[in-house]
Amino acid sequence: MATSALTVDITPLKRKPGTQHHFELSFPPPEGVVLETAEVRATQLHLDLKLEGAGEELIAFGQILVDWTGPCRRCLEDRDGTTTITLREVFQARPVEGETYLLAENEVDLEPMVRETVLLNLPVAPLCSEDCAGPDPDRFPTTVVVEPDPDEPPPADPRWAALSEITFNE
Ligand SMILES: [Zn+2]
Repeated sequence: MATSALTVDITPLKRKPGTQHHFELSFPPPEGVVLETAEVRATQLHLDLKLEGAGEELIAFGQILVDWTGPCRRCLEDRDGTTTITLREVFQARPVEGETYLLAENEVDLEPMVRETVLLNLPVAPLCSEDCAGPDPDRFPTTVVVEPDPDEPPPADPRWAALSEITFNE
């Protein structure tokens, strides 16, 4: 079985039921592991997980923090964000498709779980801020505001145009 960088030796956990293995890891998505949706790409993962043997099963619980980058759905500017995922997953020798993950004899590969969990939790439509108004009005003006020149006489009101044509015979 091919092992990933996220393979953990669980022999100590099996030897002593009830013990927990706590680990923290920060790393960019491993090579070959694509962690991106149409909108958002994960750039860094922070795992803070505990593994605990429970009979024939192994429980993984804790948090995954995902740094990601993707375009704001309104202004389309790239923005960065962090999503915190709290998880509790079960590993079994005979996993249930879509519910539990594979537990090998003496090790567990967390990569499929991490990948699936992250993909499911990446934001679908990020927003750079709640009051994002859309395209940056300074850089992409949609209307041109012309300030009136104070030295210029105000334009004649067309309603008075007829008056300016009246001449007086003296
Ligand atoms: Zn925006």
